[in-house]
Amino acid sequence: MSRIFNFGAGPATLPLEVLEEVRDEFLDYPFDGKQMGMSIIEMSHRSKAYDAVNEQTEADMKELLGLGDDYQVLFMQGGATTQFSMVPLNFLKAGRTADYILTGTWSEKALAEAKKVGDTHVAASGKDSNYARLPQPKEIQLSENPVYIHLTTNNTIFGTQWRDIAPLNLNPGKHLLVADMSSDILSHPFKADDYGLIYAGAQKNIGPAGLTVVIMRRELAEDPDPTLPIMLQYKTFTKHKSLYNTPPVFAVYIMGKVLKWIKKNGGLAGMAAHNEAKAKLIYDIIDSHPDFYKGHATPDSRSLMNITFRLPNEELEAEFVKQAQAAGMSGLKGHRSVGGLRASIYNGMPKAGCEALARFMLEFMNNNA
Ligand SMILES: *Cc1c(COP(=O)(O)O)cnc(C)c1O
Repeated sequence: MSRIFNFGAGPATLPLEVLEEVRDEFLDYPFDGKQMGMSIIEMSHRSKAYDAVNEQTEADMKELLGLGDDYQVLFMQGGATTQFSMVPLNFLKAGRTADYILTGTWSEKALAEAKKVGDTHVAASGKDSNYARLPQPKEIQLSENPVYIHLTTNNTIFGTQWRDIAPLNLNPGKHLLVADMSSDILSHPFKADDYGLIYAGAQKNIGPAGLTVVIMRRELAEDPDPTLPIMLQYKTFTKHKSLYNTPPVFAVYIMGKVLKWIKKNGGLAGMAAHNEAKAKLIYDIIDSHPDFYKGHATPDSRSLMNITFRLPNEELEAEFVKQAQAAGMSGLKGHRSVGGLRASIYNGMPKAGCEALARFMLEFMNNNA
C-alpha cells in the first residue's frame, strides 16, 4: 500500500489511524466487550450499539467545544448546502431581516437561499477584492435589528479565515450568530458559545461525506413553524436526538473516531499548533519567493486550512499540478474562481505532507524560475 498526500478540498484526507481502526472493526463490530457478528453499517440505528455511538459522538463534540447542556449536536444530511435553506426557513420570520457577511462563494450561496425566504441585508462584502481579504470590523454595517447574522468562518475556495471573531464586535450577547464552519470546525480553539448555531459538512475537516453536523442552542429549535416539512425543522432533530429517521450511521461512527483522535492529539489547542506549523511551512515558501509564488489571500486574512497561490503563468500552474501528482501529491489544482493552486491542509493532513509540498515547491521553482 502506498498512500499519497491528498491536498483536495473535500472530501478530504482523514487520519490514517482512524481509517485503520474502521477497517479493523468493519466486518465484526465490537461493542460492550463482545463481537456483534455484523458490521456497524448492517445494524439497526435503534440498537444499543449504535445508540452508544450517537451519544458518545455528541458528548465528545460538546466536550471539544466546551459546550454545556443548553447546546445540542445534531447529525443531519443534505450537506452544508441544505443548511443554507434550513437556517432562514427556521429563523427568518416575516417582518425581520437576516444579515449576511459575504466572504466568498459559499456565503453568496447561503445568501441566495435566504433571499427566497425573506428580507436580507448584506452587512459587508469582500467581493471587490475577489474575496482575497476579509472585511475589516469597521466595514461591517449591520441592519437595525437582525434576526441573525450569518458568517462563513473559513472560505475554502479563496483561502481566507476568521479564527477570532471578537474584533468584529458582532455582539453575540445581543445577536444570534450563525456560522458555516464546514472547512475549519475543530481546527483551533474558539468560543463556541458565541454562536447560536454552527453547521458544517463533515467531509472536510472531521469525517466522511454524508453527514452534516449542526451545533445549536437547544431553545432555538423550540416553537417551529408547523407548515415546514418535518425534516426541515430543527425541532425534529433536537427532540429525537437525531434519530427521528435513519441517520447516516457510518459517517457518524467515523466522525466519532476522528473526534477521539482529536482528543488524543491535544484537543483543539493541539490541532491549532499542528495546523499552524503545517501552514507556516507553505506560507514561508510563498513569502520568501514573491517573484515566483503569489498568495491569493492577503496575509492578514490567510487561512490555515486552504492555501491559495498563483505561479507566474497558467502553463507553469498546470505543470506544477502534473509534476506534484507524479511526486505523490494530489488535489492541488485551485478552484476555477481563483485559478492557480490550492493546498487544503485540514486536521487530517500530516505535517510530513506539508514538508513534502514545501520541498516540492522549492524544487519546482529552482527548475522553472
Ligand atoms: C464545501 C463547503 C460547503 C458545501 O458543503 P456541502 O456539504 O457539499 O453542501 C459549504 N460551505 C463551505 C464553507 C464549504 O467549504
